[in-house]
Amino acid sequence: MIDRLLETLQTKLNSRRVADPDTLRRLTKRYTPKPASTPQQSPLDYIQRIALPGGKPYNLAQHNDLTAIAEDDARIVIVRKAAQKGVTELMIRLQFYLARRGYSAAYFLRSRAYMRLLVQSRVEPVIAANKELLDALMPADDEEESDRKVPRKYRLADNVTLKRLYGATLLYMGLQSEADVRSFPLDAVFADEVETLKPELADALQERLYHSALKWERWFSQPTAVGYGIDERFQLTDQRHQLFTCDSCRAEFMLEESFPHCLGYLKDDDSPLPLGEGSGARATYLCPRCHKPFNPLAARWRWVAKYPSRSSDAHGYHLTQLYSHTMTPDEVARLYRLSLTSPNRMERFYNSVLGLPYAGGDTQPIHPDKLAYHNYPLVPINPDAPRYAGVDVGDTLSLVVIEMGDGNAWYVAAIEELQGPNKWDDLRQILQNLRVQSVGVNAMPYKDSAKKLLRDLAPRIGGAIIYDASDDAKPSAGQEDAEFGDPVPRLVYPRTELMDATVSALLSHAVHLPPRHMRETERLLKHLQNYIVERDAQGNRRYARGREDHLGRALDYALLIARSDARYIPPTALTPDNFYLPLRLEPRIL
Ligand SMILES: [Zn+2]
Repeated sequence: MIDRLLETLQTKLNSRRVADPDTLRRLTKRYTPKPASTPQQSPLDYIQRIALPGGKPYNLAQHNDLTAIAEDDARIVIVRKAAQKGVTELMIRLQFYLARRGYSAAYFLRSRAYMRLLVQSRVEPVIAANKELLDALMPADDEEESDRKVPRKYRLADNVTLKRLYGATLLYMGLQSEADVRSFPLDAVFADEVETLKPELADALQERLYHSALKWERWFSQPTAVGYGIDERFQLTDQRHQLFTCDSCRAEFMLEESFPHCLGYLKDDDSPLPLGEGSGARATYLCPRCHKPFNPLAARWRWVAKYPSRSSDAHGYHLTQLYSHTMTPDEVARLYRLSLTSPNRMERFYNSVLGLPYAGGDTQPIHPDKLAYHNYPLVPINPDAPRYAGVDVGDTLSLVVIEMGDGNAWYVAAIEELQGPNKWDDLRQILQNLRVQSVGVNAMPYKDSAKKLLRDLAPRIGGAIIYDASDDAKPSAGQEDAEFGDPVPRLVYPRTELMDATVSALLSHAVHLPPRHMRETERLLKHLQNYIVERDAQGNRRYARGREDHLGRALDYALLIARSDARYIPPTALTPDNFYLPLRLEPRIL
């Protein structure tokens, strides 16, 4: 819905004429810089003089890890950062500061829609809240923008993404095509969310600066993978980190690099307890050497470059949420403990809390020693317990049945690999004998057979065909063949998220396997150990394809079908601690 809206808005805007370089130059010429009546203001003074939207003062007192970035006038500054560090707010102001010095700069995000959001929610409200900026804004040409909130005088020039402030040009652009990059000569580029920019377009940005004496580049983003995106750029810099000093033992250390040894719990008598042994106690940062409690916000620290010899080329800053007025040690400890059993969440923890790229952890996350096993032989353990089945389809039909067992854990209750001309009939027979509630069947590559199975089983046994979707797709539920009057339910789910959820459920012991010595268990273990994590060309985590992992995939589908059938999941099984997939599908869809 919002996407549609943005798309329409974008089409409308694109249909208007965008300024060509000639027009721009003409517009810029009209500016006559006022002679500076006061000595030149430092960037830090300037950006703190610009009030927040609504008029509240903006100051970096609670963000003093940002002041060095604000004052840095190196040509290239790379900021590899955790989430919510206030860098966007800072960079918007630095762009104003450059404009005041007469420099034109562009701010890039990955799409025009995102850029529009940024301009409307972060840039224009700041301009509207500051008389200095309003006065410095050149009037827009004849625009009929009277229905907009911001008075037309200081809204648009030729395009919503272009403003003229202090006579300099400010561009806000979504970086979607070569044309976006080629349009304008610039003095500075600000590239936000570098991870999401197309690498070849990001590289082309630098060419816009050739004519300028300033040639500023500011790149900032949360990282994803090692050596990709912002991390690739950060690696080429002098790599500045916050180096803290422990007042008790004088040890010097970086929080993010000594994590998790810099976090622990305090017992009631205030003696420290290592992470992992604490329950109910309050979390605190600790000196990684003497283990005395340590408060980063009150501690002495300084920026230290790992490679000072590169400082003439590019300055790099690492920003972490471990140094934060908003995120408490308790919160960090909670997120960290949750992430221990989920590769998905561990990656998010690294990226958004530590601000570090994630090396991928184990490329083979499943090891038999890490899993839980029940003591029951296969086939229904408790005839009255709800059971769900997953089927991976190929020349062999791979079947896994799970059953709700003790402690709300799923017990694997059947493992079968069916072959031969009667395999579909055999499969139907087994599912009927086991009286499963629902079955999830991989739609590909024999969709018609999968649909026939579901129709043969209905209405006593429900189910859906399941499609693996790409990782940027959203889960969805629907129907197929509704037009023929005999619909079959359909689930679409992102492949990596689905496999991650199974790995999480196994590692957190939300799923118990049959006794380890059984032949069937060995087969399932073998297939689960073929869940191999790799990176695609964009640096995204995913599981390798084409491995012998069919029984694992069958377990994926069984867990998915169980989860989408909310009637049979005890509410206690849905806490994030013991059941990992968010229940994003509508309940009772089947
Ligand atoms: Zn110490």
